[in-house]
Amino acid sequence: MAKIQMKTPLVEMDGDEMTRVLWQQIKDVLLLPFIDLKTEYYDLGLEHRNETDDQVTVDSALATKKYGVAVKCATITPNAARMTEYNLKQMWKSPNGTIRAILDGTVFRTPIIVKGIAPYVRSWQKPISIARHAYGDVYKASEVKVPAGSKAEILVTDANGNQTKTLIHDFKTDGIVQGQHNIEQSIASFARACFQYALDQKKELWFSTKDTISKTYDHTFKDIFAEIYENEFRAKFEEAGISYFYTLIDDAVARVIRSDGGFIWACKNYDGDVMSDMLANGFGSLAMMTSVLVSPDGVYEYEAAHGTVQRHYYKHLAGEPTTTNPIATIFAWSGALRKRGELDEIPELCEFADRLEKASIDTIESGIMPKELYLLSSLENKKAVYTTEFLAEIASRL
Ligand code: NAP
Ligand code: MG
Repeated sequence: MAKIQMKTPLVEMDGDEMTRVLWQQIKDVLLLPFIDLKTEYYDLGLEHRNETDDQVTVDSALATKKYGVAVKCATITPNAARMTEYNLKQMWKSPNGTIRAILDGTVFRTPIIVKGIAPYVRSWQKPISIARHAYGDVYKASEVKVPAGSKAEILVTDANGNQTKTLIHDFKTDGIVQGQHNIEQSIASFARACFQYALDQKKELWFSTKDTISKTYDHTFKDIFAEIYENEFRAKFEEAGISYFYTLIDDAVARVIRSDGGFIWACKNYDGDVMSDMLANGFGSLAMMTSVLVSPDGVYEYEAAHGTVQRHYYKHLAGEPTTTNPIATIFAWSGALRKRGELDEIPELCEFADRLEKASIDTIESGIMPKELYLLSSLENKKAVYTTEFLAEIASRL
């Protein structure tokens, strides 16, 4: 059989620990036998980031801007323990943070649904994707403790030195104060990424904030979304037969729980942090969650939502077989290959991505699955297998 040919290279960002092991296995067993794989390879493994003073991360993000599509393996974000483990020159920043800052992207997370693993919410039949704004609010806030008898005000000095003061509170007793901000440009990028992704996926877009209480701050988010929708996206949405709708966060939560899924939910930074954990767990497993970073100008970076699965890696190093679930990493590859196929008009590549995903899901639905799914599955004929056997089962169906 002739291998599928590619035109433009995918930006390949290799990573760390157990997911780095999976990365190579997935390429060997599921991709290279079928595709003449064309990638521009960047080693984001912690050792190489350290050797290059993290320049490799920046280079990989710039290459993603150039080519348009990347696939990323999970990477270690160094902490104190990693400083000694890897003898690091510096506590390098999170690669995901660096890449996101360069691409100005929004992360969309979507669960992969399989028969036998029922969501905790009975009505959910289709996946719910969540988009989290990744800048500002409580994540970039200033906070102070305030003693009794103090007056707290918001003081804004404009470019000409004019000052306006807004009273926060006259403290009769001890208290606390917090100052948050956001930037219209960042909110607009977020909005564009959400509208673009909804069009791409042909799914409805929901957006929610607390604008009834936060009449200036949250209302600005609502207004920016509305303006961009009207001016840039309404016509495209109508043509695609999808809709955008804004609602209060409380109402959104109630609707999400009663819905059958199948839409994208855009959230402010904090709401997205909390709600993405709720959805990931509600749907079953972090290893069954895909993640894609989409920039407002339509650049895509696909990855798994989970980390490097350190505990399994140490077992692997000790020569023991592992039970790591490769599905999210496989779907990162299939997502990136499909997008490359769409952009370069290579239908065989898009079909291959569909087949790879179907073979993966069919394997689980036939009862063969990694341990953590086995513990959740309601299938009667289920069997827990090690990672290598699971990959071989997918390959045989592919
Ligand atoms: P993790 O790698 O997601 O793993 C946490 C636990 O979740 C695992 O120990 C395992 O549970 C379970 N798990 C996660 N993925 C799994 C899979 N594919 N198959 C089976 N079980 C899975 O998170 P972590 O241990 O907190 O972080 C490890 C490293 O990953 C850290 O250095 C962190 O910086 C990095 N990280 C990277 C990313 C990223 O690159 N996107 C994201 C998050 C974390 P059991 O041990 O009970 O089996
Ligand atoms: Mg969280």
